Amino acid sequence: MMFQDELSTADPAVSQALADERRRQETTLSMIASENHASPAVMEAQGSVLTNKYAEGYPGSRYYGGCEHVDEVERLAIERARELWGGDHINVQPHSGTQANMAVYFSALEPGDRILSLSLSHGGHLSHGHHVNVSGQLYEVEQYEVDPETGRIDYDAVRERAEAFDPDLVVSGSSAYPREFDFDHIDGIARSVDALHLADIAHVTGLVATGLHDNPVGTADFVTGSTHKTIRAGRGGIVICEETHADDLDSAVFPGSQGGPLMHNIAGKAVGFGQARSEDFAAYAERVVENASVLASELRERDVSLVSGGTDKHFVLVDLRESHPELTGADAETALNDVGIVVNKNTVPGETRSPFVTSGVRIGTPAVTTRGFGPAEMTEVAETVVALLDAPDDPSVAADARATVERLCSEHPVYE
Ligand SMILES: *Cc1c(COP(=O)(O)O)cnc(C)c1O
Repeated sequence: MMFQDELSTADPAVSQALADERRRQETTLSMIASENHASPAVMEAQGSVLTNKYAEGYPGSRYYGGCEHVDEVERLAIERARELWGGDHINVQPHSGTQANMAVYFSALEPGDRILSLSLSHGGHLSHGHHVNVSGQLYEVEQYEVDPETGRIDYDAVRERAEAFDPDLVVSGSSAYPREFDFDHIDGIARSVDALHLADIAHVTGLVATGLHDNPVGTADFVTGSTHKTIRAGRGGIVICEETHADDLDSAVFPGSQGGPLMHNIAGKAVGFGQARSEDFAAYAERVVENASVLASELRERDVSLVSGGTDKHFVLVDLRESHPELTGADAETALNDVGIVVNKNTVPGETRSPFVTSGVRIGTPAVTTRGFGPAEMTEVAETVVALLDAPDDPSVAADARATVERLCSEHPVYE
């Protein structure tokens, strides 16, 4: 084994798995709402010599020598993030969106303090205080929900819950709530009970940056996000906060909850944020939302129910309980995945099945839009999805579906 060997020689097993994964991504439709395809430039930055560098600290103030070039990269990531979302203070070091949320909790709360957030089964995230996550173990958590009739957040109910619970921090934002969040409304509620407000825009970073979704920066005390979802940059997390919270937040990221920053991923963030400033990206983000809206109306036309009746964003949440009561989310996920439409089962508001079974499927458009899908392709996807939901065990339906997916993929390659 030689240090200089390329991967296929140095490690045929891993090399083969990477080649297989690349083929899987090219030949299937990634419709997991949190996924996207990073650009070759982002991947080049992530797979670079920056993986070698220790840079504990922040640009201009590091605990290690030799940081002049990584300082430049981190500064670029911060400057470009500011162009996209605005904000007083920006930290691009969190290893992921979850780490970004943890840093906010560590900086703003003491163990035992109170968090009010959207319930996981109504679209929230594990890192918003679920008991299996450390956020649910360190803090006292109460959750708000969507109205079971409308599938939308009932802000009056949130206010009542906040007044009864007296939280220290209110979390807005979601993973599976298909409607736009009213950040101002949540902010007013948080202020009225003297709580801080964390807006988690993990999923909608790309939509917020292009003005397609309300921007909580400048309203919420803290804004967190993942950098690899709709914004399509290098993998990781980000926190944007007001200047008054800057020092505490930076200390909560490093040394509070992380060691050395992943400079190669920060380079991927810088490159992706740079690309997201372009008109091309603005057109892409618009197309992501348009595609989700076409998917929603095509599914509805075929009598498939959607949570909240539709979407404002980049995904739909199918509620199988009315149209396909015998079918579980897990069955639907399997039937779709088997033909190359890769989605995830998802709980729906008022869920009666377990999170491993569920009654819903979340279907997202960011990744297929990256490969060039538009409304015509979305209509074909909707037809295919409904055919599979109607006949999940019919081999001829599956064969037709597989042929459709293969054709769509070869017409729209991800990487040339
Ligand atoms: C995806 C997501 C996160 C965290 O994502 P990571 O996988 O840790 O990057 C946090 N909050 C919400 C709402 C999310 O959807």
